[in-house]
Amino acid sequence: MPSLFTKIVQREIPADIVYEDDDCLAFRDIAPKAPIHILVIPKREIVSLADLTEEDEAVMGRCVVAASKIAASEGISEGGYRLIVNCGDDGGQEVPHIHFHLMGGRKLTWPPG
Ligand code: C5P
Repeated sequence: MPSLFTKIVQREIPADIVYEDDDCLAFRDIAPKAPIHILVIPKREIVSLADLTEEDEAVMGRCVVAASKIAASEGISEGGYRLIVNCGDDGGQEVPHIHFHLMGGRKLTWPPG
């Protein structure tokens, strides 16, 4: 069964999409935790960081570069931002389709809870 985020890739579920290329998609988080909170995902379904293999190096790298470009277009490059991947239950991952949280637009605290 396709993941929630695959359904967004396939336009079966609506999302505020801000970036797309052949391999990656980015859309605004539906419940933002910062003024800018965008999820960057590989279109291909990869469950989590724990499932990555060498085959995923290119697409994951592409998502990181996409996140950098999106941060610039959102105007948060100079102020700074955070790129986060939650992995598994203890890491707080709820959606089993790997995703980067791009968060910025305010002073972020450290460490995360
Ligand atoms: O890392 P984690 O799996 O917990 O993050 C999932 C994120 O997906 C949450 O921040 C949630 O708000 C977001 N989400 C979304 N659109 C949906 C469902 C979840 O942006 N339709």
